[in-house]
Amino acid sequence: MGKKTKKSEVDVVLIGAGIMSATLGTLINELSPDINIEIVERLDLVAAESSDAWNNAGTGHSALCELNYTPEQADGSVKIAKAIDIAEQFEISKQFWTYLVEQDILKNPSEFIRQVPHMSAVFGEKDVNFLRTRFETMEKETLFKGMEYTEDKATLSNWIPLMMENRDNDEKIAATRVDMGTDVNFGTLTRDLVQHLQTKENITLSLNQEVRDIKREDDARWEIEIKDLNNGEKRKIKAKFVFIGAGGHSLLLLEKSGIPEAKGYGGFPVGGQWLRCKNKDIIQKHNAKVYGKASVGAPPMSVPHLDTRYIDGEQALLFGPYAGFSTKFLKKGSYFDLPASIKLSNIRPMISAGLDNLDLTKYLITEVMKSPSDKLDALKQFMPTAKLEDWGIEIAGQRVQVIKKDPKHGGILEFGTEVVSSADGSIAALLGASPGASTSVAIMINLLKRCFPERAKSDAYRKKLREMIPSWGKKLNDDAVLCEEVRRRSQAALQLS
Ligand SMILES: Cc1cc2nc3c(=O)[nH]c(=O)nc-3n(C[C@H](O)[C@H](O)[C@H](O)COP(=O)(O)OP(=O)(O)OC[C@H]3O[C@@H](n4cnc5c(N)ncnc54)[C@H](O)[C@@H]3O)c2cc1C
Repeated sequence: MGKKTKKSEVDVVLIGAGIMSATLGTLINELSPDINIEIVERLDLVAAESSDAWNNAGTGHSALCELNYTPEQADGSVKIAKAIDIAEQFEISKQFWTYLVEQDILKNPSEFIRQVPHMSAVFGEKDVNFLRTRFETMEKETLFKGMEYTEDKATLSNWIPLMMENRDNDEKIAATRVDMGTDVNFGTLTRDLVQHLQTKENITLSLNQEVRDIKREDDARWEIEIKDLNNGEKRKIKAKFVFIGAGGHSLLLLEKSGIPEAKGYGGFPVGGQWLRCKNKDIIQKHNAKVYGKASVGAPPMSVPHLDTRYIDGEQALLFGPYAGFSTKFLKKGSYFDLPASIKLSNIRPMISAGLDNLDLTKYLITEVMKSPSDKLDALKQFMPTAKLEDWGIEIAGQRVQVIKKDPKHGGILEFGTEVVSSADGSIAALLGASPGASTSVAIMINLLKRCFPERAKSDAYRKKLREMIPSWGKKLNDDAVLCEEVRRRSQAALQLS
């Protein structure tokens, strides 16, 4: 006689224990504490994929330094709409974390967020002109007030001594600086959030449990098939709502759900590596996240940057990322991930996006072929005194960029994040990577509005949301007084100075 499959029921299943599920679970629990939740994670740890500290760059993306959010236009002007949008979203994240610290839910803010100046640095006449125009356009906006710009070598030596040592005096270089940038340890933040959720009677965390299948039942609920990776046993959970927060594997699980909204989506994996500094004296000499300009064909997330990090209480320094190619969709994924994701419904968009992005393919091949000394050359543009012996390699997380149907091109490759949900809002998945973790709170509040529309309309829900995020529904960039007020509160609670 075959073994009986165990069955259980919950309101909500969150697949994956990364920053997205942790944020959604915390929001649901604060807004609707009666909802019971099971978080299902295939690994034996929380936040061990992209959300873990060394798997991402830890930049609190707020468009203070990332040049890919402010593209140059044909007439030489700089478009900053995306930068404003991302900065607004990061302020929402900070307000939520502020609320959680004030409620004593998050206890030690300096363990997950630190103030680190955000800078952009460019080399050569053309890029210097671009950066100057970008600065002149941005500094007028409330969200970017206080940004500084310089081409002066003495000021640069003061801001970024490590980058200016032994630099050719004739080299044209410019930089902007905003002191209020942040370094965020999304791994610690995720673990703190999940630890808090585990104190609730109606929330369960199940580790070493892999979701294998998702099917819609006749009663409109979802049946999740789970394999216990410790003993191979299978079980099933019935849920009214499912969030697929499985990082790179979200696409594969979304395809299993069979919802028509998932048709036409594909994924393109981009791996990454950092150079991590081993020399304490060098680490101490740099205090900033300095973003440069991406080379032609490079995906936006491969913009080189020299970054101060704070991980496990220690200051660290990384440079990169160097992009790479692997067919895995997660660091601990399978080489069959990419082939398994190809279906009849997405093969055309995937081929079209591939043909349209030959520059990217060429770039990735060049990056993969790079020897350690080629890697050093890239670092030397930032730090002319760099020596290979002071740096080691650290493997970053995998990103799966979204490919989607496009009526004109057949398929396009996107570099942002995208929530795909069923028409009735009973299942949703997060695809894509960037700006990702930094904007997780705004992404998840919008997801709740889409998937729990009745609750989201209630007065109690709206009141609580406004208590947690005072600027919700307003634009800080249009309200200098409110912007200053929420920033002052966040700076104090999160101990940023
Ligand atoms: C190189 C790199 C640099 C980045 N830099 C930044 C940055 O500077 N700032 C920023 O804000 N963002 C950055 N990001 C993006 C950020 O890391 C992601 O947006 C974020 O971590 C995604 O969180 P997640 O919860 O969706 O996924 P993850 O953290 O990957 O979590 C997904 C979880 O789902 C689990 N899982 C997968 N399949 C299953 C299954 N079948 N059953 C059960 N569990 C499953 C996985 O084991 C994993 O724990 C970067 C990403 C990378 C790769």
